[in-house]
Amino acid sequence: MAIPFLQVARVGAYVVKQHLAGRKRYPLALMLEPLFRCNLACSGCGKIDYPDPILDQRLSIQQCLDAVDECGAPVVSIAGGEPLLHRDMPAIVEGIIARKRFVYLCTNALLLEKKLDQYQPNPYFVWSVHLDGDRDMHDASVCQPGVYDRAVQAIRAAKARGFRVNINCTLFNNAQPAQVASFFDTLKGIGVDGITVSPGYAYERAPDQQHFLARNKTRQLFRDILELGRGGKNWAFSQSSLFLDFLAGNQTYHCTPWGNPTRTVFGWQRPCYLLGEGYVNSFRELMDGTDWDAYGTGNYEKCADCMVHSGYEASAVADTIAHPLKAMGVSLRGVRTKGAMAPDILLDKQRPAEYVFSEHVAIKLSEIGGTKHARQRAEAVAAQGR
Ligand code: SF4
Repeated sequence: MAIPFLQVARVGAYVVKQHLAGRKRYPLALMLEPLFRCNLACSGCGKIDYPDPILDQRLSIQQCLDAVDECGAPVVSIAGGEPLLHRDMPAIVEGIIARKRFVYLCTNALLLEKKLDQYQPNPYFVWSVHLDGDRDMHDASVCQPGVYDRAVQAIRAAKARGFRVNINCTLFNNAQPAQVASFFDTLKGIGVDGITVSPGYAYERAPDQQHFLARNKTRQLFRDILELGRGGKNWAFSQSSLFLDFLAGNQTYHCTPWGNPTRTVFGWQRPCYLLGEGYVNSFRELMDGTDWDAYGTGNYEKCADCMVHSGYEASAVADTIAHPLKAMGVSLRGVRTKGAMAPDILLDKQRPAEYVFSEHVAIKLSEIGGTKHARQRAEAVAAQGR
């Protein structure tokens, strides 16, 4: 596992403290999205398809630090949009590190070399570069040639300056196990410190709805990939061993959406990083006022195929604390890639999907604009969503 000892120790102590305090729900990683604007337009993205007035919104330094303080999670993942487009990002990162929280700064790396001087290596800081596979896979995923090569060049530059660099990789249904395994091998040569891998989630606003994985395909794909790397032991994953075991179909987990609470320019997002089904003004309102049982695989149609780390890594971490020997066994032996899979959650009682997202966009547009033009756009967006 490619997580530094300091982080394992601090996050482990935090989780144990929550358990000893009898807290049923607690956050593990804050997903902070200070903007939705991006300099790419990936077909699988559910974040960038907003009208310009919303893409122009930014969380301020103070709003970001208030979110970190309110939430209290030991890890902060700064996503977007492209965070490096936010001119105050160095101050936001500095403020979070000063609070001794581990910062994962997600980036597509197009601006990384240009901005490197604005950051300093720190045990609490890691670049998390988006790479969805090798050159062919990644450039197809981000719908632009040359992005893979620029990202790899930026990773090398960051490593040369002494930064920790992870990659975050989303796999779709056209992923070939041998190609993915070879890509993971290549990352070692580039000097990447850790890999976060996850199946894609079909955001209702993503332009491309064709290439997302269903649950059974996900489990078999991860078995086939991990099989090529000694159950995953060949590669430095920045994830818990039991989350990988879950991806390979060896664990039945219910999702833990409160484990990765999300703060965006809309507010605190209900219920998770992936679904925008409502927004509230405070972290406390999110935790206490969300009907958590209404979500998750088996409960809600939109959750049926989800196996994403932002929903299930916290489930795996809780299981690790409850069953440390099981987790250690998977780490030592590697993930099992043969034999029967764990039973999956039945979907026969799930409630149907609700399509409420466009209304939130419309409300935000009204708040921002107040002009006749903004109101007209808001009404048009709301009408599209009905
Ligand atoms: S299963 Fe959990 S993480 Fe996935 S979309 Fe549903 S609520 Fe979100």
